[in-house]
Amino acid sequence: MTDNAAAPICLARPLSGPGTDRAGGCAAARGGDGRPLHAAALKFFWGPMDCGKSTMALQMNYNHARQGRRGLVTTRIDRSLGPQVTTRIGLAHAAIEVTDELDLRDLVRDALADGIRVDYLICDEASFYNLEHVEQMAELVDEYDVDVYAFGLATDFRSCLFPAAQRLFELADEVARIQIEVLCWCGREGLLNARVVHGRVVREGEQVVIGDTVDDADVRYQVLCRRHYRSGDLGPR
Ligand SMILES: [Zn+2]
Repeated sequence: MTDNAAAPICLARPLSGPGTDRAGGCAAARGGDGRPLHAAALKFFWGPMDCGKSTMALQMNYNHARQGRRGLVTTRIDRSLGPQVTTRIGLAHAAIEVTDELDLRDLVRDALADGIRVDYLICDEASFYNLEHVEQMAELVDEYDVDVYAFGLATDFRSCLFPAAQRLFELADEVARIQIEVLCWCGREGLLNARVVHGRVVREGEQVVIGDTVDDADVRYQVLCRRHYRSGDLGPR
């Protein structure tokens, strides 16, 4: 996948625009509004840190691209702090950095204006997007027939939903918890993302603070089971 590192847009099939019948020439069933009944979808895949969300995002991109679909990959505050999706197991892919000002619809419209069809969006770290971005995702699905696959955390270090995650839970056609288990130090399934500052679990502060999951970081995150999240027990060091 690193071969594609400079190409967030995957080029393969001939051009078509929004509303195109994507059933390969077969007439798709249409609803009362004339649009396909089974068209694009907004899907949200969520899980705690370290559960492989970005790995799954890149695998999803690979699977779709190899079938000739064209996609855009976006991210926000990737662990590399650069415009790319990186994974803890070493995969990397160039991506478009999402800023407050960025309109996801413009990405698709600009691509179409350049003659590049967009079949899907892979939105990594989607919990860090703002609420407008989630509305834009829904519009891309409903008005442009673009599939949107969003990946992200559900809850922050206080165990409260990120606003964008909450909106994705509300709007998505499909929500799935990523099934790769992350274990708490006790061996139970990890669920919550504790923020650890100078060795102690903190429960107040900014919702987004950059940190890592490595042991020696000033601010780090550790996935804990609910029991040990609640007690603040980080386990034997
Ligand atoms: Zn535990």
